[in-house]
Amino acid sequence: MGVRPALFLWILANNKTKSSCDKDVLLNILSVLTGLLSLGTGRRIQYVISKGGSEALLQALAAAAQAEPPDHSTLLPLLRLLAKVGQRDRKFGLKAQKAGATDVILSLARRNLSNHLPLIHCLWVLRVCASNVTTGTTLGINGAMELLFKVITPYSKRHIRTVRAAIEALAALLKSRSNSRRAVNRGYLGGLLRLYQDWHHKDVSNNYIYIRRGLLLCLKHVTDIQLGRETFLGSQGIEILFSSVQDCLSCKNLDPIINTAIQILRKCYPKESLPVTTVKSFYLFPLPGNVKADPPCEESEGDYESDGEEEADKNLDDEDVESKEEDYDLETDVNKLRSRPVLDRPEEELGQYEAMCPELSHNIQELESEPEEEKSFQDRTESLSSTPSNFIPSATCVKHPNYRWRNQSVTEMEPDPGEKNFQVPLQSWTKEEKCRWDQTDEKRDIAVAAQDTDFWDEEDPTRRQVLALHPLPEDAAWYKKVFHPECETSTNTNPGGMLESSDVVANLLEKHQGDIPFHSPHFYTARAKCVKSIPDYKDLAFPDFWGHQPPPYSKPMLERKYGVQRDKILDDVRRLIHPGDVIGRTVFDLDEPSHSSPTAPGCLTFFSKFESGNLRKAIQVHEFEYDLILNADANSNQHHQWFYFAVSDMKLAVPYRFNIINCEKFNSQFNYGMQLVMYSVKEALQGRPCWLRAGHDICYYKNHYRCRTAAGGGMRGKFYYTLTFSIKFPHKDDVCYLAYHYPYTYSTMMSHLDILEQNRNPKKVYWRQQTLCQTLGGNLCPLITITAMPESKKRDDLEQFSSRPYVFLTARVHPGESNASWVMKGTLEFLMSSDPIADLLRKCFIFKIIPMLNPDGVINGNHRCSLSGDDLNRQWLTPSSQLHPTIYHAKGLLYYLRSIGRAPLVFCDYHGHSQKKNVFLYGCSVKETLWQAGCMVDTAVVTEDVGYRALPKILDKVAPAFVMNSCSFLVEKSRESTARVVVWKEMGVLRSYTMESTYSGCSHGLYKGLQLGTQELEEMGSKFCLGLLILHLKSLPCSKKVMAQAALLLDLEEEITDRTQRRCSNSSLETDDEPPCVEEIDYNTDSCSDGEEDFTELDQEIQECLSWVEGETEDEAVITGQTCSSKALRGLYISSQPASNSTSLRSTAVEVYSGFESSPV
Ligand SMILES: [Zn+2]
Repeated sequence: MGVRPALFLWILANNKTKSSCDKDVLLNILSVLTGLLSLGTGRRIQYVISKGGSEALLQALAAAAQAEPPDHSTLLPLLRLLAKVGQRDRKFGLKAQKAGATDVILSLARRNLSNHLPLIHCLWVLRVCASNVTTGTTLGINGAMELLFKVITPYSKRHIRTVRAAIEALAALLKSRSNSRRAVNRGYLGGLLRLYQDWHHKDVSNNYIYIRRGLLLCLKHVTDIQLGRETFLGSQGIEILFSSVQDCLSCKNLDPIINTAIQILRKCYPKESLPVTTVKSFYLFPLPGNVKADPPCEESEGDYESDGEEEADKNLDDEDVESKEEDYDLETDVNKLRSRPVLDRPEEELGQYEAMCPELSHNIQELESEPEEEKSFQDRTESLSSTPSNFIPSATCVKHPNYRWRNQSVTEMEPDPGEKNFQVPLQSWTKEEKCRWDQTDEKRDIAVAAQDTDFWDEEDPTRRQVLALHPLPEDAAWYKKVFHPECETSTNTNPGGMLESSDVVANLLEKHQGDIPFHSPHFYTARAKCVKSIPDYKDLAFPDFWGHQPPPYSKPMLERKYGVQRDKILDDVRRLIHPGDVIGRTVFDLDEPSHSSPTAPGCLTFFSKFESGNLRKAIQVHEFEYDLILNADANSNQHHQWFYFAVSDMKLAVPYRFNIINCEKFNSQFNYGMQLVMYSVKEALQGRPCWLRAGHDICYYKNHYRCRTAAGGGMRGKFYYTLTFSIKFPHKDDVCYLAYHYPYTYSTMMSHLDILEQNRNPKKVYWRQQTLCQTLGGNLCPLITITAMPESKKRDDLEQFSSRPYVFLTARVHPGESNASWVMKGTLEFLMSSDPIADLLRKCFIFKIIPMLNPDGVINGNHRCSLSGDDLNRQWLTPSSQLHPTIYHAKGLLYYLRSIGRAPLVFCDYHGHSQKKNVFLYGCSVKETLWQAGCMVDTAVVTEDVGYRALPKILDKVAPAFVMNSCSFLVEKSRESTARVVVWKEMGVLRSYTMESTYSGCSHGLYKGLQLGTQELEEMGSKFCLGLLILHLKSLPCSKKVMAQAALLLDLEEEITDRTQRRCSNSSLETDDEPPCVEEIDYNTDSCSDGEEDFTELDQEIQECLSWVEGETEDEAVITGQTCSSKALRGLYISSQPASNSTSLRSTAVEVYSGFESSPV
């Protein structure tokens, strides 16, 4: 192309005279431009735009329009060029206004109302102008919509193209909210609905899909404003669209109609608040001192209707706002990135943590006589009596089942007025109890309790016989009596429930094979008795008690059923239209315990009052369908995600549908193949004690429930989402447990530690379990130390023993991330194992492990927070010793290690990630952060050890679920108070990580396409250890002996190349986010792509027009007679390639124009 177009444009713009000679020049230029631009590539048109093409064409139009009578031979090609160029020029509307062309086009259109060819051309350009909202508004004020309504007709086979162009122009105009208001006020909305109905009913062969969809697009824009939605509802819009969609469902080609109609239905569905009395958590916990326990809101009536809708017109040009925001979050202040903040507490306090490092004491006597250091720890901490959270009460105090925090106000706690600080609430009442903490005694208690046969002694011989005769219970009554005594008030003769005594449990335990590794129901029960929960749990969940064994196979990701979301939404709409079909019976409700015993036969029984349980309410909506509501985190009104509950009294072979209607995340892996997990008691008793991935017809979408503005705390949390799934239960009258992810309770963790300790090899493994601190809820947070026993009592060996570098691991700060606990379980078991690699690892490192940083949250079924309602992984900068004791003391211990020059070599906090697949690390790098933020990096000033990359690179090679490409080493401002960033910055730990494990499955590597099970998660934990060993060998000076041992154990090179090869086969680049879902998940209209901006659509219309001109007959000639075929749809979707024989098309086009235009129209 070169310089010529520029020259043509110049001539165009300056062609003011109207001599016949100029007209010929103009025609020639137009035909050449048309030819050039019909070749199609957007780059050519962009070039023309950049050279002032739009302005030149607009000026030429203004000039040509002055001719009287109008000369269509120049006007029409000009208008075609304008439509083609204008739709790709973002400023076209404004340019048109400036050139006065909008008025020209309007008046041209008015003059040609019955002259369809020029009229269509005007409508195309109108539509392009209206894509700028400001211009659209001006056009609306000048009567453009009234004009269009004169053109849009009820169903007719005449002038189809004109009607289509008018509808599309109208849709573009209605993007302006003031136009929409005008349209509603003039009654156009009802008119549009009637037009849509008319076309829908009469277009039986589906020939005019684009007209029907165009009308829907108009409705879609009109209902962007509240007045539009109200009028739509009042005009029976919901019913009309719903029934029209029903007619369309059988034809897949009608998807564009169905999808647009559903977008409108969702938008106009009347908003409701959740069917709960308050969104505040059912569990309230009085905080020590005067800290406000209340969530920051009380609901006020109304006002969720407006949806933050901005009535003002605006252009939404910033599609990359989100990525800009992400970059904006990066910390770009080099001084901040490199500063090391001062200690957040008096230095003297660090002394107390010496007791948590008994391995440094060099005292081999102490090493051998194990529990001694516990006593010395206690002595030391007692001397620091001013720090209340060091007060560790005996776990035997927990024999007060009636103690309920919920009903107890803070003032009842009677804090000692002499105390400067407030106290952890438990302290005040445990003072009256036997408070002396003696871990030896407690351990013995548990061991005795667990092994003492008398513990399960009280047997009912008849029941035993029943069980013996019928290994599978006939119904769930036995089960309810044992596990949910609260449900069985009528038959319950033992209010203490099973925790006190139970014959059936004894029978069950006799049946228990004891073949689940690292699990003991006895230990579990003993530990569960010591747990302190807000609701004061009396029941055990069977799966936690009985144990879980991973199934022998992995389950592939669930394939998404076509149109599943659409079907669910239509079901929701059906409920609105036919409210009489909805049962609406509350069958379970924490707030109203009377609802929790089922009265109606044939309905499911729900239960969630057990450790880690979360279900607030269940409402039966149809015979086999229930709406479920989750409980917010304690002392909070949000974070609904984790669920864990039991259902019983089910029928066989019936799919039950469950809708969790108060989820909060805007998207979920449930839309990308993830299933929830289910555990069947009957299956377990038949020897298959497994949590399995379950559920079909799963989908996750925004629903019509809204959190009232005051309760939403800003934009976030304003919307709710539905997770819907269907389940066929494996047995009749079974008891099944459903959960978000494989549960892992606090008692599971504590009994796991018991078993690990009991099974260790004391000659080889140094193991210490201490208590880091007591939590707000009065539970103990264990701290584990693992390393190898010294080789001998020789001085050298003792020195080697205590000078090993530290590795500091933590997990489960977020209670809903049970996957983190399974990974930690794998790490602990591997570290304690007799595997020679584990042996070598123990000789290389001292492991300090806090396996559960948030026991209270885990126990009480929270998803994100602790009992204070705080996200503990946002408290590391300045943790409060009273409100965040586990973080305060974990940080204290790290401070102590740093103060003696022993900051850990690696710190890693295990988490779970709900939005992404695979397992990956987040680390910290100054350089990568600055680069990503686009800052100039002075490499002379910023020197950085790239050692932080070594461990993830190694894990990428050794751990099948791990993906290096998903890792990130950016330091975000919003994460400045996380463990990873604080430990990196304040403790100077270069290798400070968050490890994120997916809830879902893998998109890469060995497990590609599979959902992760506990086995794969545990494997990740053990491979993490292997990674640490390789890191040690690669980056630290090792003794010859270690190297020799390592060489025997690991053929590192071979292992690495082996896995590299395997990976190469599927080494597509990891993309961070999921590919777009088949169905639009959100219905925020601004984010909906509806194909309106697809350039090819209008191009297609223009091109079709040419062939129609060529075919010389009337409108319908080309399209009529086509069935619902791909050709009819092409203009809607298929990004049609520019005609394949473009050269010939160009030449014909030019000829056709001249030929056509010379004949009278
Ligand atoms: Zn997390």
